[in-house]
Formats: sequence, C-alpha cells, structure tokens
Amino acid sequence: MINKVRGRFAPSPTGEMHLGNAWTALLAWLYVRSNGGTMVLRIEDLDPDRSRPEYTEALIADMKWLGLDWDEGPDVGGPYPSYCQDQRRPLYEEALGALSARGFIYPCYCTRAELAASAPHAGENSQRYGGNCRTRRDVPLNRHPALRLTVPDGIVEYNDLVRGPVAQDVSEVVGDFVVRRSDGVHAYQLAVVVDDGLMQINNVLRGDDLLDSTPRQILLYHLLGLTPPDFAHVPLLFGQDGHRLSKRQRDLSLAALRQHGVRAEDINGYLAWKAGMLDQRRPMVAAELIRLFTLEKLPTSPIIVKDDDFANCG
Ligand code: GLU
Repeated sequence: MINKVRGRFAPSPTGEMHLGNAWTALLAWLYVRSNGGTMVLRIEDLDPDRSRPEYTEALIADMKWLGLDWDEGPDVGGPYPSYCQDQRRPLYEEALGALSARGFIYPCYCTRAELAASAPHAGENSQRYGGNCRTRRDVPLNRHPALRLTVPDGIVEYNDLVRGPVAQDVSEVVGDFVVRRSDGVHAYQLAVVVDDGLMQINNVLRGDDLLDSTPRQILLYHLLGLTPPDFAHVPLLFGQDGHRLSKRQRDLSLAALRQHGVRAEDINGYLAWKAGMLDQRRPMVAAELIRLFTLEKLPTSPIIVKDDDFANCG
C-alpha cells in the first residue's frame, strides 16, 4: 500500500511573511494537495530571542489570505501535538537522552575564539568543527557546554526529488555538529528531525538553502531509528540585487504587497508562473493550481524577482 502523503510547512516566526516564504508555502501545499495528502503547519519558534507570537498570528493570517489551508496545526490541533516547537522541548530532550545513552553525545566547552582558532584555513571546510572537545579532559568552570553529536564516518546519500542524487560525508564537511546550544536551546537540526519523524511527515518540500543540512538530518533520522521523508529542495527567490529574498526586504512582505492593492491571486499566479506551471503570468486562485502542479518545470537557474514585478497589480 502506498502511504498517504504527509507534508508540512514549517516557518520560523521571526519576521513578516514575504514572497519567498509564500513561494515555499505554496509549493509545499500544492505537493500535498495534488497528492490528496495531509498538510501540517508547524511553527518553528525554537529560538526565544528571535521568535515572536505576533509573527505567528500574522503568518497564519497571511497563509489563509493566500488561500492555503492545513489539516493539522497550532490553531486546529491534530494527532501529533504540539504544533509549536517551543512546546516540544521535552521531546528533543528525550531524543538527546537516547543518543547520549548510545554514546553519540558529548559536551563542548569551546568558546567562539577557540572555534575560530581551530577552524581550518578559510575557504576550505570552514564550517567544520575540528573535534577539540571529543577528547577534552579538563572541564572549564563557569562555562555551560553545548552538546555535539559524534558524527560517524561515511557518506550519506539520498535522492532529492528536485536535485537528484545528493551525497555528503558529514564528518568531513561539518564534523561533529551542535544538537543543543550552550544556552540550552535545541538546535534546528535536531528539532526538525524529531518533529518531522514523530509527526510521520513523509514529504519535505523546502528551500534549497537547507540542502546542505539534509545529510546531517538523515544521519539523525537513522541514529534515532526514524524513517527519513522524501526531500524536495526548490530554488530560492532572489532580488535584483542578487541577494535571496529575506524578511529584511519589507516591500516584498505580503502585508506590504497587500497594502499596495496586490491580490492573493496575483501572487499565486506569479509564483506558479515562476515555477513553470503557467506559460504566462496571470492571476490564479491557489486551489486552481492544484491540477497544474508539477515540479518538473522548475527552473534550475536562480529565480529573480524584479523590483517592479508587482508595480501594475494594485
Ligand atoms: N524553519 C525553517 C525556516 O523558516 C524551515 C525549516 C524546514 O523547512 O526544514 O527557514
């Protein structure tokens, strides 16, 4: 029997939803809806310094405005509560306990300066942790340790639905990575695996800025005895300045576009056209796009949003 698709959109409530978030939200939703699956909304409010409840509320309102819906989420509940990471910390601790019991976790007391000093030459594997604390004997007083995963040697491989075969030697590229920060906040890499695993998510469609993280996550799935989902990493949207769209570009927030008279149909149609689902740009209601959905026509080159792309919509 083929498993029913369970997909999700997992935004971090750290700013206003912008066109780039709408792009991944729409594609993730279309993937699920075109397969008759279950859509999950999970709020990734793991970082207490950056997350704000008002952004969660605005996000939910923006998604509804776009015409996207979900079957499970913070506002509607579902069989795998909670749908906010902030409430799921005991589950992350449980996972850490399981990894620790098998000898995969060690404390890391490195300061920023020590990390910078031990990093290999700039340019080559500069994000790789050299493993200082794997064998550290002294325990520095007055320092709270981060927790790292002992990464086993070997290549992690998977087949991305958009990018094709992906392979990474995690121990070579990133080394032992942090699973809980020194301030006690669980790392995204751990939380996302625990959440997607326990929520039975079997399709993760998200931006390709997370392509590099995926082998780390697959490793964690295996170590935790969870089944990895299918992954589809879609290209990000870039501004004309060559930078990827971010929450800092206020003028492309959905709220700002809406204020300028841009309608949800203008945005959905524009994004579907950029994804290759429409030959011409034209307004589309999200639900009308379900029958047109395909990942096959996604461009492989960066997708550029021009400054005046929405100038005539209002
Ligand atoms: N919370 C992440 C973000 O907003 C996305 C994580 C994911 O899709 O795995 O960028």
